[in-house]
Amino acid sequence: MNEIIDHDKITSQIQAFLDKPHGHFIDGQWIDGKSGKPIDVISPATGNIVSSIQSGDGDDVDKAVAAARRAFDSGVWSKVLPVERARIMFKLADLIEFHASQISQLEALDIGVSRHMMETIGVKLSANQLRYYAGWVTKINGETITNSRPRPEGREFLTYTEKEPVGVVGQIIPWNFPFAMAVQKIAPALAAGCTIVMKPAEDAPLSTLYLADLIAQTGLPSGVFNLVNGYGRKAGAAIAAHEGVDKVSFTGSTDVGKEIIRSATGNLKRTTLELGGKSPVILLKDADLDEAIPAVARAIFFLSGQNCMAGSRLLVHGDIYDRVLEGLVTLAKSMTIGADMTGTYDIGPLISEKQLTRVLAYIDIGISEGARLITGGKRVEKLPGFFVEPTIFADCNSGMRIVKEEIFGPVLTVQKFNSDDLDDIAALANDNIFGLSASVWTADLAQGHKLARKIKSGQVGINIHAAIDPATPFGGYKQSGWGREFGREGLEPYLETKAITAYL
Ligand code: ADP
Repeated sequence: MNEIIDHDKITSQIQAFLDKPHGHFIDGQWIDGKSGKPIDVISPATGNIVSSIQSGDGDDVDKAVAAARRAFDSGVWSKVLPVERARIMFKLADLIEFHASQISQLEALDIGVSRHMMETIGVKLSANQLRYYAGWVTKINGETITNSRPRPEGREFLTYTEKEPVGVVGQIIPWNFPFAMAVQKIAPALAAGCTIVMKPAEDAPLSTLYLADLIAQTGLPSGVFNLVNGYGRKAGAAIAAHEGVDKVSFTGSTDVGKEIIRSATGNLKRTTLELGGKSPVILLKDADLDEAIPAVARAIFFLSGQNCMAGSRLLVHGDIYDRVLEGLVTLAKSMTIGADMTGTYDIGPLISEKQLTRVLAYIDIGISEGARLITGGKRVEKLPGFFVEPTIFADCNSGMRIVKEEIFGPVLTVQKFNSDDLDDIAALANDNIFGLSASVWTADLAQGHKLARKIKSGQVGINIHAAIDPATPFGGYKQSGWGREFGREGLEPYLETKAITAYL
């Protein structure tokens, strides 16, 4: 395992950005909130403070919601010509690509993702998300309805539906891949004509603050996009409970998702939740192991496992079990670990000391539950930040906490099965409260499709894990969430349907 730390490659422009005061972006400008002690932004790769943000409260949220409401009610966005809405969204997509380097530096600093990965994947995906939804703006249509209502002789009915934006939406985002999260939330909301109050995660707000600056350059009318910094329990909870917010969209942990639902009941907000996962990766005995083993490693170790789709539960047929374990251990041991501002590495840091403690505690639980630790299991002491070795537990079973619960770290559990019966295999895969993502690896595509049908999960990949694309619906079964993001289905939660009937 190599360790790399290289945080000296921040440009002066980004250093100036980090040094700026970061208040709240309300009604088209940055304003100072009055509340509380600022929140330190810490680089997880070094443990150093790199910037700070204000800690917003209910008053700041009130101001942001009022601005969003004024902008919505005035129609500056919802009633503008659809082609104009699309034009601004396309412009933002271009600006994002133009600022790929700056965004990637901030994301690398804030979450320890490789700058190279952000430039090549994160930024592109985000820009394309906007382009995809910009394409929908001019295609949001209702329909005419065939109405069987009894009518007087000689009269007719015309019934049709219209789609309207839901109104002011609160969007609360997490710290893992925050730039892509922010963009994937604003894109359908803007396409629908909604106005937004966003709260970035206090652990990783920087790229979202930069996004606000880019939005300001697009000509988006003031008040359409607003941002309040702060802690979840204060600013986030105020958004979720606010009577002036018509819909809340949240990505984060299942526990907080349940709190959001409770807060949202006051005015029965529409609610979309993208929550946790414990996604199974299933290797049937005919899987192509040359392809599958590196893919299994990527599925769990991408973003150090801090990814709701992480393939954290590996289920392997007994015939190939030992070969798979051997291959994975070899790969895990060869991984580069660190945070490099200029190149690539395989494993980055965990987001915070809190997350590090939590992941290490789960590793202890795994050992005490009798799972066999075959590689990793320790903090990387040589590095100053919050790094944990790629860790694999073999001989796990579904009763273990490390198999049942989402760890959100680079920890893979491996279970063996000996059955060839797809119902047995699906039962093992489905034996979990989550249902976000899954993958099946087999040379027999028909078997793959049959098994995919039996898995209770929002996405299933066949010989691929986590095949994200702006057009492909994304979301969870069971406690992985409510509703879908991405694709046409991701637009619907931002729209109300109105049915209009007239006598002719
Ligand atoms: P994680 O546990 O992965 O940090 P969380 O679910 O705690 O994820 O956080 C995701 C987002 O939700 C963050 O922006 C956080 O500030 C926010 N948040 C946390 N608690 C609450 C809450 N009670 N109400 C609203 N938002 C919250």
